[in-house]
Amino acid sequence: MGEYKRILLAVDLADESNIVGERAIQLARLFDAELHVVHVVEPLSLVYGGDIPMDLSSVQDQIQEQAKSSLDEFCEGAGVLEAHRYLIFGRPETEIHRIATAADIDAIIVGSHGRHGLALLLGSTANGVLHGASCDVLAVRVGPGAHRRAD
Ligand code: AMP
Repeated sequence: MGEYKRILLAVDLADESNIVGERAIQLARLFDAELHVVHVVEPLSLVYGGDIPMDLSSVQDQIQEQAKSSLDEFCEGAGVLEAHRYLIFGRPETEIHRIATAADIDAIIVGSHGRHGLALLLGSTANGVLHGASCDVLAVRVGPGAHRRAD
């Protein structure tokens, strides 16, 4: 098996992103690989199905600005180069796959809540990224029930 040269960490910028980020940093160090980080801002029209009869563009701009500063803060802490940070507008699974191909990524890292039942049927991003990825995908278990070694 070849070594990973470029690793892509997908972050939703929630609190648990730090846990997933730590794993990504460890893996990147282990392989002496570049670490790339992507955050996708979903269009409000997609999230709310275009049902709100008002102009949401200023709210969308604010979300985008907030996401940019959170992504930068996260990446500064993780020592990720500016050229390796991607703030994208669109559907997470689609955009994560697109960046992975464009940046010639060999492993994608996502968080996984290990959902089951109805929540799984409704779909998870981790699942969406796994299906259709043309490189390895590592799902780091987060949330209640996640078992983590202390050492
Ligand atoms: P979810 O299935 O939405 O709970 O998300 C699981 C994982 O998918 C997160 O820990 C991230 O790794 C990734 N993810 C979810 N939403 C986004 C997003 N908007 N941008 C980038 N990655 C995301």
